[in-house]
Amino acid sequence: MEDKQLKDHKQIGQELELFFTDDIAPGAPFWLPKGMVIFKELEKYIRQLTLDAGYLETSTPIMVKNDLFKQSGHWTKFGEHNMYNLELSDEGENSKPIGYTLKPMNCPESTILYRFRPRSYKELPLRLSEIGRLHRKEKSGEVNGLLRVRQITMDDAHIYARENQIFDEVSNILDMMNAFYSNFGFEYEFRFATRPEQRAGTDEMWDKAEKGLEEVLKKKGIKASDKKGDGAFYGPKIDMHIKDALGREWQLATVQLDFHMPQAFDLKYINENGESEKPVMIHRAIFGSFERFTGILTEHFQGSFPTWLSPQQVQIVPITDRNNNYGQNVLEQLKSSDIRAGLDDRSEKMQGKIRDAQMQKIPYMLIVGDREEKEGKVAVRTRDGKDLGALTIEEFKKLILDKINKKSLELS
Ligand code: ZN
Repeated sequence: MEDKQLKDHKQIGQELELFFTDDIAPGAPFWLPKGMVIFKELEKYIRQLTLDAGYLETSTPIMVKNDLFKQSGHWTKFGEHNMYNLELSDEGENSKPIGYTLKPMNCPESTILYRFRPRSYKELPLRLSEIGRLHRKEKSGEVNGLLRVRQITMDDAHIYARENQIFDEVSNILDMMNAFYSNFGFEYEFRFATRPEQRAGTDEMWDKAEKGLEEVLKKKGIKASDKKGDGAFYGPKIDMHIKDALGREWQLATVQLDFHMPQAFDLKYINENGESEKPVMIHRAIFGSFERFTGILTEHFQGSFPTWLSPQQVQIVPITDRNNNYGQNVLEQLKSSDIRAGLDDRSEKMQGKIRDAQMQKIPYMLIVGDREEKEGKVAVRTRDGKDLGALTIEEFKKLILDKINKKSLELS
């Protein structure tokens, strides 16, 4: 990265006060207030997309008895050495300790939500989403800022569906991925990952699942290169690979078709004839991990986040101290429209204030002097040095709210 004069996300995270890591918790970032704005904006966006698509939000425990992962098959296939396991005595010192695990994935617990009560075909497809914290063992020497972490916040979801609903569900998920990733200026492509050597379930199940996904790709006209043998142990998947501004490739979004887990947990629903049937389970994630996605975005944009994601969107720069009151007035008007604005009322030279705002990668600077004050306007400059001229406060609000609402990458 040094060759290209580019900074890595750890350096940008420190300089812009977004996030950092500390030896006290290897592989688990600390989020500073400004970084948390980004985190929460991403969360708000994915939650909205998910709720609009008919998902219901849930939450499951972080620490669960490891019996669950033995039943799901994760204990042997994923590897107990990849999980954080602990022995706890629930009832005093002399009781027999019970094995617990910090969940490395949500899937098995999602099946417990499904089994909460008998289900009818009328409830399917049942789309349960969860933004949850997962823990996966990574060696302390291998953790890397936000890109490789032990503590992962995942935008997860599991859909319980009938077999004839697979097409629509997977198809909608691929549309959601397209809608989401088109906002960031990434190039991306799909990969189709088929049955691995080590797997659960019968060949018949795998044939059915692979055919199901293949059909969706074909009918939607999506070209996906094959990743033979790279599926999850419980089913085949379609992964989305993105290319960031530095030309690096990342696997982020995924949709996986699973006939195994419903079998392992004996999931059922009652069909229109009163008979019991097995649902199919679809796993999906759009970011994959909030941490990794934020790390990639930070490097991709080199800290110059699009306006909707910028921790501070506007800096008001009074030319002299006597313009501070007017600056305060502008600030209040922006804040009343939920625009994240600040006022630099230090007795510094204007050029210095502009330079500081640019260093902070704040998208818009509003310069206010005597003339702007008299005309009730603001002189608008962007962080990349463009002069957008003098606008009324209403005109500027219209401009910036349009960029925010459209999640635009442009400033002018
Ligand atoms: Zn899952």
